[in-house]
Amino acid sequence: MPPLGAPRGTHDLLPDTATAWRWLHGVHAEAAELHGYRPIDTPVFEQTELFERGVGTGTDVVDKEMYTFSDRGGRSLTLRPEGTAGVLRAVLQANLLEEARPVRAHYAGPMFRYDRPQKGRYRQFHQVGIECIGERSPELDVEVIEVGWRFLQALGLAGVVLQVNSLGDLDDRMRYREALLAYYRPLADRLCDDCRRRLEINPLRLLDCKRDESLRDAAPVITDSLGESSAAYFAAVRGGLEAAGVAAEHNPRLVRGLDYYAHTAFEYWHSSLQGAQNSLGGGGRYDGLAEAIGFPATPGIGYAFGVERLLLVAGEQGSAPAPQPACDVVVCSLGPAEAQPAAQLARVLRAAGVRTVLDASDRKLDRKLRNADRLGARLCVIVGEDEVREGAAMVRDLGRRTQERHPAAGVVDAVTAALAAGRAA
Ligand code: AMP
Repeated sequence: MPPLGAPRGTHDLLPDTATAWRWLHGVHAEAAELHGYRPIDTPVFEQTELFERGVGTGTDVVDKEMYTFSDRGGRSLTLRPEGTAGVLRAVLQANLLEEARPVRAHYAGPMFRYDRPQKGRYRQFHQVGIECIGERSPELDVEVIEVGWRFLQALGLAGVVLQVNSLGDLDDRMRYREALLAYYRPLADRLCDDCRRRLEINPLRLLDCKRDESLRDAAPVITDSLGESSAAYFAAVRGGLEAAGVAAEHNPRLVRGLDYYAHTAFEYWHSSLQGAQNSLGGGGRYDGLAEAIGFPATPGIGYAFGVERLLLVAGEQGSAPAPQPACDVVVCSLGPAEAQPAAQLARVLRAAGVRTVLDASDRKLDRKLRNADRLGARLCVIVGEDEVREGAAMVRDLGRRTQERHPAAGVVDAVTAALAAGRAA
C-alpha cells in the first residue's frame, strides 16, 4: 500500500512554520485588541442552514464549495466556509448586545471550501478577522477598515492596495439591479452558463464572473444608483479614512451580490498575488444578515484575511520571522550512570526558563554535539563520570567551540549568562 498523504487541498503546519504562524496571529490579536476587540471562538461546524441563509444559496461558496454531511442523528451540518455567520450567531444567541453595543470581537481559525487547489487557494485554509456588531455609523466602518490596515502595517507588508466601494441600501440596489438587467439582457447569449442562470436571480453576481470580464467592464456602476443618504454615508467613510491616513481607492466595481450587504465593501489587494488570488482579505457591512439567520435586525461590519496568503507575501518580502530553534541547550550524559544526574540538571535549567532538551541516548559525544547543533542549540551541558563525582558539569559553547567546567550549583547562572551574552552579540 502506498503511504497515505494529506487530503487534496490541505496542508500541514510543520514545526518550521510555527514561528511565522504564531507571529501573524499575535500581531492580529494585538492590532484588534488595541481597538477594543475581544477574542471569540465558535464551532468549526454549524447547521447547514446557517450558511445557506447566511452566505446565500446561489453563491459559489454555498452551491459548490461547502463540506456538508449528516451526523449520526441525521442533522445536516457544514464545516464553516467563513467566520462571520457563526460569530454573528454566537453574539446574538448569547445576547451580548444587552451588555454593550457594539460588540467588538476578533477570531482566527480554519475555514473549509471545496475549491480548486492552487497557489494561495486551499480546501482547508485559515482566516483572522474581526466583527463589529450592533451599530451602524461611518465611524465604525472606518474603524474596521483601519484595524485591517494597521494590522497589515504591523506585519510590515508593502504594496497593499485598499479598495473601497458602497453598495448603498436596498432601494439603491433595486435601482442598480434594474440598470444591470437593462444592460445584460440584450447580451444574454454572450454570457457563460452560470451568468445566464444568475441574471434573473441576482444580476449583481455577474460582476464577480471571471469569464465575462470584458462585459463587466462596460456594465453600469453602482455609484450611479446611490441615493443621497447612501452617497453621504460613503463620503463620510472616505473622509474618515483620509483623516486616518488610510489610503483607499474607490473601486466602483467591487460588489457583494447578497441582499444583506449594505453600504461599505472593501478589499485589500496585493500585486504579488496573481489574478483571482490577489485578495489578501476583505469585508463589508452586512446589516441584513441577522434577519436572514432568524434574529432581530442588527447591523454589523467585519473583515477576514487569509492567513496563508498573508504569510506568502510576508515570506516573499522577508518580514516574517525565521523559524525558532527547538531549544537553547542540550544536556548530554556520557554514559548510562550519568543519565539521572543529567536529567536532573535539565529539569533545573527548565525551571529557570531555559529551553532544554535532554540527550541521554547511547550515542557517542560527537554525534550528540552534531545533533545539538541541528536542533539549533547554542550550548551543550555535558555530564560525564568525572563531573558526577565532582558535582560539576561542562558547559560547551557550540558556536565558539569553547568549554568550561562549572560546579553543578553554578550551571544555571553560567548558562543564562552565556545565552544572554550571545543574544547581545
Ligand atoms: P472571503 O471570505 O471569500 O471574502 O475571503 C477572505 C479572504 O480569505 C480572501 O481574501 C483570501 O485571502 C482568503 N481565502 C478565501 N478563500 C480561500 C482559499 N480557498 N484558500 C486560501 N485562502 C482563501
